[in-house]
Amino acid sequence: MTKSLMKSDCITDLTSTQIRELVLALGEPNYRATQLQRWIYQGLAVTWDEMTNLPKQFRQRLAQETNLHGITTAHEVIGRDGTVKALFALADGKTIESALMSYSAGAGKPRHTVCLSTQVGCAMGCAFCATGQQGFERNLTPGEIVDQVLYFARLVQERCREAPSGPGLPAGRITNLVFMGMGEPLANYDALWQAIEMLNSPQGFGLGARNMVISTVGLVPQIERLSRERLQVGLAVSLHAAENALRNELVPINRKYPLEQLIPCCREYLERTGRRPSFEYILFEGINDSVHHAQLLARLLVGLNCHVNLIPANRSGDASFRPPPRGTVLAFQGELKRRHIACTLRQRRGLDIDAGCGQLRSHSMMQGHTETPSQNARRAPVREGPR
Ligand code: SF4
Repeated sequence: MTKSLMKSDCITDLTSTQIRELVLALGEPNYRATQLQRWIYQGLAVTWDEMTNLPKQFRQRLAQETNLHGITTAHEVIGRDGTVKALFALADGKTIESALMSYSAGAGKPRHTVCLSTQVGCAMGCAFCATGQQGFERNLTPGEIVDQVLYFARLVQERCREAPSGPGLPAGRITNLVFMGMGEPLANYDALWQAIEMLNSPQGFGLGARNMVISTVGLVPQIERLSRERLQVGLAVSLHAAENALRNELVPINRKYPLEQLIPCCREYLERTGRRPSFEYILFEGINDSVHHAQLLARLLVGLNCHVNLIPANRSGDASFRPPPRGTVLAFQGELKRRHIACTLRQRRGLDIDAGCGQLRSHSMMQGHTETPSQNARRAPVREGPR
């Protein structure tokens, strides 16, 4: 085997090749690897015992060699708009959070989007971000990233079974993934990419790469690397300011990769991949929300085929980063449109449940839902263990 398994390893940390090697090392034929992956990623199995077409002895050996899940649910909240936010405990007791946003899109197909974390904490230190204020603890493993998706896939499946045609509970499976939760995804590139490959693979979760978006604060070398990848994953750059002085304050990594490096890198990404990047711009009252700021933004992006997502700041965050009044937001958007910049005003989801990145974890820690899984499970056991 290329990777020697320890008991603490989780099977979702393995690539397809490594799963095959494990199966062969346990004396089973090749095709068992396909069956096993089908149970994990399509059957969404919660226990080894469910895998009834695998020999009992093989299942027992698997249970001795590896774990089926690397995360457990510590806390879960559901917002008025149906957004589900989960706080997960990892094997070492650290916690992360992710969210499921469901949209019943009129006559179109419903969408179930999962917002995923890629790190425990974050080193980027963005001024307005709860996670940024917590600091960096460690990277997630590929399995810890994938397990977040499997958790919500089970939840969607369960909802679908409970209310197959119920209003407001769209049926189906996970349709979109956005790597926009805790952490800077491109700072954990290898684990992120292994997870994406498994989530995309027909032997794995089988979700189209075009339905996945990686969000970054603008790590230029990693964006260049991303532009050379085979899979058509989308790129969203968190901009929040169109001049270096302000962006240095809001997004400190701008000091290392300033706009004169970042924007040409995005142009090159577009040329190389043919995929239009999007730019996230959170509007903070009195900071970056004036018509003048909109003009700067339009000037920065002129001639670049891209899309701007305008996001009014989350009200439950830091009081110095408030959302602008509605009129200011519309004036900003109007100015961009007038200057032919494609933009959308993004609807905020989960406003009543700390759905901003890192907020649930912050609040949870403040309330004593600290880094001990057993403690978490006692305090807020919405569901025990993986779903
Ligand atoms: S906004 Fe994203 S990159 Fe910035 S500190 Fe928060 S998690 Fe990290």
